[in-house]
Amino acid sequence: MNPMEFIESLDPQILVGASVAFVVIVVAAFLFSSKKPKGCLDPQNFKDFKLVKRTQLSHNVAKFRFELPTSTSILGLPIGQHISCRGKDGQGEEVIKPYTPTTLDSDVGYFELVIKMYPQGRMSHHFREMRVGDHLAVKGPKGRFKYEPGQGRAFGMLAGGSGITPMFQVARAILENPKDKTRVHLIYANVTYEDILLKDELDGLARTYPDRFQIYYVLNQPPEVWDGGVGFVSKEMIQTHLPAPGPDIQILRCGPPPMNKAMAAHLESLEYAPHMQFQF
Ligand SMILES: Cc1cc2nc3c(=O)[nH]c(=O)nc-3n(C[C@H](O)[C@H](O)[C@H](O)COP(=O)(O)OP(=O)(O)OC[C@H]3O[C@@H](n4cnc5c(N)ncnc54)[C@H](O)[C@@H]3O)c2cc1C
Repeated sequence: MNPMEFIESLDPQILVGASVAFVVIVVAAFLFSSKKPKGCLDPQNFKDFKLVKRTQLSHNVAKFRFELPTSTSILGLPIGQHISCRGKDGQGEEVIKPYTPTTLDSDVGYFELVIKMYPQGRMSHHFREMRVGDHLAVKGPKGRFKYEPGQGRAFGMLAGGSGITPMFQVARAILENPKDKTRVHLIYANVTYEDILLKDELDGLARTYPDRFQIYYVLNQPPEVWDGGVGFVSKEMIQTHLPAPGPDIQILRCGPPPMNKAMAAHLESLEYAPHMQFQF
């Protein structure tokens, strides 16, 4: 009996049943294969991640790469959120601080943190002592801010020092999504040129997306040749470089406490309403 004769000899009800089962299996296989992999974070419990690479970027800044359980695992951190990291300070006491990875879920198998280590910093001590092969205890996702494409027309960002990492995460997610038309305007303040974190990456984004991403660097102690801002971030700099107040813009802030306070005062006097602002 050839295959056609065999099919014709079957009971039509069995044939229909078999066809339905076949379709269900194909759809299930498609859904399963296209499902986003599950993240590796637990919001209730700390989980350990192994440090696999440490790259010194300057005298007090290093990039730490942590391995995820498999080479296809993703961290699973929503855009705009951060993780809590637990360590021990110089006295051996437990310390927990927030950090934003510079990697996204499009970077599979690992995540990276860029950490600025302060001489007296408690968690800074923990990171300074970490060596390849050590484990970091991480809990998350955490945070009140979550970015969804199309949330607004434009973002203004005011970052100081290591406060750049949440901005970098949000900016990367927006710019690397070709369907997202949101514009990003960043003012990034530091003391010296050497303090600027992620400068190559930021300049790369500005070159690749000139219509959607503008960056204005501000330095307290600029080098002799410098075309950015000088001093502290002023009201005038905000007026010139960030989107004007409006219902479809949002201003994000992340910096050391004195800077956050000064920026909140500038924004208030420029009539940015509280709902147009978010501080990480
Ligand atoms: C949402 C969020 C994400 C963050 N992501 C990152 C990140 O990706 N990378 C990163 O390096 N940090 C990040 N931070 C900052 C981080 O959480 C810690 O505050 C920082 O690492 C200092 O912690 P510490 O325990 O070492 O210092 P602490 O023990 O808290 O401070 C000790 C001393 O260090 C100095 N110091 C501490 N923080 C600052 C500062 N911001 N500016 C200037 N001097 C300071 C001060 O002199 C202070 O007195 C983030 C913060 C937030 C809120």
